[in-house]
Amino acid sequence: MITVPIWNGPSRYDGSELVMVATTGGNDKTAEVVGISLVTRAAWDATRASQISWRESGDALYRSISGRTKGQEFKKRTATAGVRSICPGGCSHLQNGNCYVVDNAQNSSQIAATVRRSKPLPPVWTMDETRKAMEKILMGADAMDLIDFRLMFMGDAGAVPPEVIGLILWMVKEAGLGTLAYTHDWRNTPWLRDSHMASVETEEERQEAKAAGWRCFVARPNNGQAWPADLAMCPASREYGALKGKTLSCSECRQCDGAGVTKDRGIASHGLADGSKKAARVNRGNFKIVNTYGRTLGLYA
Ligand code: SF4
Repeated sequence: MITVPIWNGPSRYDGSELVMVATTGGNDKTAEVVGISLVTRAAWDATRASQISWRESGDALYRSISGRTKGQEFKKRTATAGVRSICPGGCSHLQNGNCYVVDNAQNSSQIAATVRRSKPLPPVWTMDETRKAMEKILMGADAMDLIDFRLMFMGDAGAVPPEVIGLILWMVKEAGLGTLAYTHDWRNTPWLRDSHMASVETEEERQEAKAAGWRCFVARPNNGQAWPADLAMCPASREYGALKGKTLSCSECRQCDGAGVTKDRGIASHGLADGSKKAARVNRGNFKIVNTYGRTLGLYA
């Protein structure tokens, strides 16, 4: 596994110092990809410093601290440093405190592990450092036959200056790799349109983003309303798997790659309050997610 910082500099949102880190790896949904995360410099430094002090107290003690505890620590550090420096103010998950990464200890623990195992930062960051780090990670991707970059495991590419994210995306494309990428900051980041999906939650937002040239990834409410005919269900979703008997990983699907002619993609919303809404529908015998043509797209199970 290769893990390297690929940028260090000020947030576009509030000027706080950030670190962007790339790692070869993935999760059950994405399968193996190059994953990019954006973290605050304060959380980066504190996480790496605590690893050293834990290690000095003895490896056995360090190993005995659960990933969840380390994730809780990282979650607190990110909150203290200010989530607003890595995420756009318009994100509803940021506003509601229900983000599945920054508000979730389990997922935060994966980002904390990435920070701990990364190569260190050089004393001064230049664009040449980004170029060299990207060459390293692209060589690793090639050796491991990885074909996609996932942006972001934590944070939003909208926080990164356009010239930096532009260089990274250009190098990904030149190497013949694809992106699996999402931004909640689509209203303010037209430079991400060809590589990123607009993350939206309502049909009104979807239409606004589409009119601005974006393809969209929609978290649909579990309210029983038919999905629009031009919206396909994400094949990694539980509801798709319940209908088809199996799911696909993002690396098999590869549809979330920015503007183009293929349909938007969506999932049934899976926030903290959605489990009970889905269960209530199942209890009423209302299992199907259908579109406006009456076609069944997925099943609540
Ligand atoms: S639509 Fe495809 S690429 Fe997008 S999240 Fe779902 S499985 Fe991944």
